[in-house]
Amino acid sequence: MNSNGYPASSFKIPTVKFTKLFINGHFVDSLSGGEFETIDPRTGEVIARIAEGTKEDIDLAVKASRLAFDHGPWPRMPAVERARIMMKWADLIDQHVEEIAALDAIDAGKLYHMLKAIEIPATANTIRYYAGAADKIHGEVLKPAREFHAYTLLEPVGVVGHIIPWNFPSIMFVSKVSPCLAAGCTMVLKPAEQTPLSALFYAHLAKLAGIPDGVLNVVPGFGATAGAAICSDMDIDKVSFTGSTEVGREVMRAAANSNLKPVSLELGGKSPFIIFDDADLDKAVELALMAVVYNKQQHIFISDNYLLLLSGFQGEVCAAGSRVFVQEGIYDEFEKRLVEKAKAWVVGDPFDPNVQQGPQVDKKQFEKILSYIEHGKREGATLLTGGKRVGNKGYYIEPTIFSNVKEDMLIAQDEIFGPVIALMKFKTIEEAIKSANNSRYGLVAGVVTKSLDTANTMSRSIRAGVVWINCYFAFENDIPYGGCKMSGFGKDSGLEALHKYLHVKSVVTPIYNSPW
Ligand code: NAD
Repeated sequence: MNSNGYPASSFKIPTVKFTKLFINGHFVDSLSGGEFETIDPRTGEVIARIAEGTKEDIDLAVKASRLAFDHGPWPRMPAVERARIMMKWADLIDQHVEEIAALDAIDAGKLYHMLKAIEIPATANTIRYYAGAADKIHGEVLKPAREFHAYTLLEPVGVVGHIIPWNFPSIMFVSKVSPCLAAGCTMVLKPAEQTPLSALFYAHLAKLAGIPDGVLNVVPGFGATAGAAICSDMDIDKVSFTGSTEVGREVMRAAANSNLKPVSLELGGKSPFIIFDDADLDKAVELALMAVVYNKQQHIFISDNYLLLLSGFQGEVCAAGSRVFVQEGIYDEFEKRLVEKAKAWVVGDPFDPNVQQGPQVDKKQFEKILSYIEHGKREGATLLTGGKRVGNKGYYIEPTIFSNVKEDMLIAQDEIFGPVIALMKFKTIEEAIKSANNSRYGLVAGVVTKSLDTANTMSRSIRAGVVWINCYFAFENDIPYGGCKMSGFGKDSGLEALHKYLHVKSVVTPIYNSPW
């Protein structure tokens, strides 16, 4: 048993091999020689010291990336060759699934068995999806009113800066890098300071696969220094950012104040999950038992169990359906089952296969969640279960459910980014729509109903980037993902993501002596 009272994992943590900046195809120290610590959230102890990139290192990485774009082979090689290299990279990831899964588990506190079974294989498949699209990028022949031959060319936007958060270190990495590579761009990526390990490992594998030097640079560092340097760089042509709404605003401001580079922003959420009276709870529970976290299709089916799966990711999911609206006819039964499941939920070491929820990513996040819980109590919501720290070491929090939540309470409006559910009751579909849209965010929504009419009305009425009906977390490479309102703009999945990294150029030439 470990100090939390949970079975100590027998898993052997791999040695961390890559701790330096990856610039122009080489692992290098930062110019200042500075380093920062990356922490194991299971224990609060240091995993490794990582080279800390600052503006000077970003400048160097951008220079390498610029050279690779302006003169290197990557944007110029036949797209099928780019695809071949990307496929090889995906194969190398498949060969290292366990090692990468372990890195994300110690760095982010994510469940090892979920990473190994779902997330890391999914990263390889995302690369394959965009590799497959690389040789299908083409413009259109247009039909102008006058005698012109006109067509569009889709060209890579150039040097791209990516900034990603810590909650899905691997998925975020590939959802930025793969479409960008397929488009023929070169890039500098800054991983979150909390989770730099897997990004450096992916860079190492990219080099082995044959991605030319300078095409993919990975510079760990802090937001205010390395991140800000990317946003205001005059030689970066586009920034793709995923993170909080507050920082997204700064990213946009810095882009506007420098070279007016376009930005795409995948930001926070406070997504509604709406369950109508006609939902078959028994069937839903069965489905969930089959589907739970190991589900091969990566679909997590709906039930009261599903809600706790949100906690299974420690609640650290931008798409978490953390505002739960239940129709009055089934409310009491739903609440009862949900609380039962929450009480039986296993929180502990993310390497233990019986564990359903690991620690929060770091001390700051841990304290923020606990303070939201205290705020919820002070605001007058009823704490049905949870609300406390688990154990006395690391950053574990009980799955927490509040009822009697009013829509204007902070716990119903702010993104808590932790295992905290706000339960609310509704009577009519009109009320459900109004409540669902009563948020400054518009990332995703979930609806559970057997009625096609209800499903259609809800999917057209909710302002969100994705509406999942009778499923949740149904992420697929071909399904565009991204929000509206203060959840940002631009998609990070589907072919839409590829188009983020392409510039449309129109070419026009007069036609003399047209036969038509
Ligand atoms: P964050 O905004 O604090 O940090 C995200 C990244 O931005 C990090 O790499 C950080 O170093 C960097 N950064 C911080 N300040 C910066 C600055 N001034 N200039 C440039 N970069 C800066 O977010 P976080 O705490 O790492 O992640 C959690 C947030 O991310 C949540 O709000 C969550 O909803 C959001 N998120 C959104 C999606 C989505 O697809 N919409 C996915 C995952 C996470």
